[in-house]
Amino acid sequence: MNEYQLYIDGEFCEASDGNRFESTNPATGEVWATAPGATEADVDRAVRAAKRALTEGDWPALTATQRGRLLYRLADLVAEAAHDLGSIETTDSGKLAAETRAQSAYVADYYRYFAGLADKIQGDTLPIDKPDLHVFTTREPVGVVAAIVPWNAEMFLTATKVGPALAAGNTVVIKASEVAPAPLLAFARVIDEVGFPPGVVNLITGFGEPCGRALTSHPMVDKVAFTGGVETARHVVANTVHNLAPVTLELGGKSPILVFDDADFEGAVNGAIAGNFGASGQSCVAGSRVFVQSGIHDEFVAEVVRRAEQIRIGDPLADDTQMGPLATVAQRDRIEDVVAESTAQGATLHTGGRRPEGLDDGWYYQPTVLGCPDQDVRSTRVELFGPVMSVLRFDTEDEAVTMANDTEFGLGAGVFTRDVSRVHRVSRAIRSGIVWVNTYRAVSPIAPFGGFGDSGSGREAGMDAIHEFTTTKTVWINTSTEPMANPFTIR
Ligand code: NDP
Repeated sequence: MNEYQLYIDGEFCEASDGNRFESTNPATGEVWATAPGATEADVDRAVRAAKRALTEGDWPALTATQRGRLLYRLADLVAEAAHDLGSIETTDSGKLAAETRAQSAYVADYYRYFAGLADKIQGDTLPIDKPDLHVFTTREPVGVVAAIVPWNAEMFLTATKVGPALAAGNTVVIKASEVAPAPLLAFARVIDEVGFPPGVVNLITGFGEPCGRALTSHPMVDKVAFTGGVETARHVVANTVHNLAPVTLELGGKSPILVFDDADFEGAVNGAIAGNFGASGQSCVAGSRVFVQSGIHDEFVAEVVRRAEQIRIGDPLADDTQMGPLATVAQRDRIEDVVAESTAQGATLHTGGRRPEGLDDGWYYQPTVLGCPDQDVRSTRVELFGPVMSVLRFDTEDEAVTMANDTEFGLGAGVFTRDVSRVHRVSRAIRSGIVWVNTYRAVSPIAPFGGFGDSGSGREAGMDAIHEFTTTKTVWINTSTEPMANPFTIR
C-alpha cells in the first residue's frame, strides 16, 4: 500500500484529524494507495503559509531571473521523474502509461517555457496626456493562487497553473481530485527537491466538500484557477463571493469534428479516432460530435468502426495496450445509461456499447460509435468523458457550422478539408477557443488553451497565462520642478 502525505509550508504532513481516504486502481478495482483528506484547518494552514511566503522571506526578494532558475530546476527534475510520475498517474487514473509518461516528460517543457518567461514579464511606459508626469505600468503577481485540478491529466493541468503562477511571483495552494490523489502528492517530492522557500507551493488532497470549498472561499485567496466540470465550476464561482477572487475556468466540452468530402480520408479518420478514443475519451477536448459530409459519410463510418474494433484494450501499464479503463465505476455506469438512452432515441449502435469480455475486474468499456440522426439524441448533448463517438451526417458547409455551434460548450473543434478558403471561413465561424485544421488534440506551452461559453473563461499556456496570474499596477510620477498644484486651482 502506498501512503502519501500532504505538503504544506515546506513539510510533509498528515491531515489535522488524521483522516485518510483510499484510492483505487481502475484497471484492477483494487485499493492501491491512501491519501490524507485535508480538513478546513489544513486548508487554512496552507493558505496562510502561501500568504506568508508571498510577502515575507526569500520568495518576494528573488529577482525574476532567479525565479526562472528555480523553474528551470523544477523542469529538469520533472524530466528525470517523468517515467515514475507517469506510472503513478496511470495506476491511479487508468490513463495509458504511454500517454502519462510522455505527457509528464512534455510537462517539463511547460515549466521550461514559463521559466523563460519569468524575466520577460514587463509593463509599459504611457504617453500620458498631461504635462510633467511620467506614467508607467508593471505586471504584479496577483497573490495567493488556489488551484484545483481534476483527475484526468493531473501533472499536465498542475503545470499549466503552477508554471505561470510561479513565473509571475505568486504562491500556490493546489488541490488534486479525490479520484486520483497520488500523482500530485508524488509531485510534492519533486517540488521539495527544487528548494522553493517554504509555503511557495503547497499540495493538498481532499474532497470537494470541505477541502475544495474551504480553499476557493478562503479570504486570503487572491485568484482561483479551476479545471473540472461545469457543475463544480458553479460551486467554485459561488465560493468566490467570499474573497472576490478572479476565477479562471477550464471546463468540459462537446467538441465538433467537421469532415468534408474533400478531406484527406485517412487523416480525418485518425483525427476522429484520436479525438474520441485517446485517453479512453476522458479528455476535455474529446471531439465527441463528428459531422461527416454525405459524399463520404458511409465509407467514413465503416472505417472508424473497423479501426475502433481493432483497438487493443487492457492493462494501461502494458506497452502494447491502446486503450485503458475508465477512471471510476460511476463513470462507466453513466456512459452505459447515456448510450442506452441514445439508442432508444433513435441512434444506431455501429459498434461497442458494452464492457469488453475478459476484463471483468477493471472499469473497461468498448470504443463505441453511434450514428445519430440529429442532436436531440442525448449522446450529442452531454459531455460523456468516455470512448463514445456520435457521428452525424451533413450536406452543406453552412449546415455543418450551424450544427457544430449548436451547443453550450466551445472548447475545441476539428476541421478536415483540403480547401484553404473553407479552412478560413469555417475556423472563423466556429465558436470555440481552439480550432485544429487537419489535425486534432495538439497542445503546446506556447499556444493559449481555453474555451468559450460553458467550456470556461481565461486561458492557460502562452503569454495569456502570465496575464491570468498578474495584475497591472500604474505608477504616476510628478517630474516637474514645481510642487504639486493647488487642487482648487483648475488649469
Ligand atoms: P469535477 O468538476 O468533478 O472536479 C474537479 C475538481 O474540483 C476536483 O479536484 C474536485 O475535487 C474539485 N471540487 C469538487 N467540488 C468542489 C467544490 N465545491 N469547490 C471546489 N472544488 C471542488 O471534475 P472531474 O474531476 O470529474 O474532471 C472531469 C472534468 O474536468 C470534465 O468536465 C472535463 O472536461 C474537465 N476538464 C477540463 C479541462 C480543460 O482544460 N478545459 C481539462 C481536463 C478536464 P473532488 O474530486 O475531491 O470532488
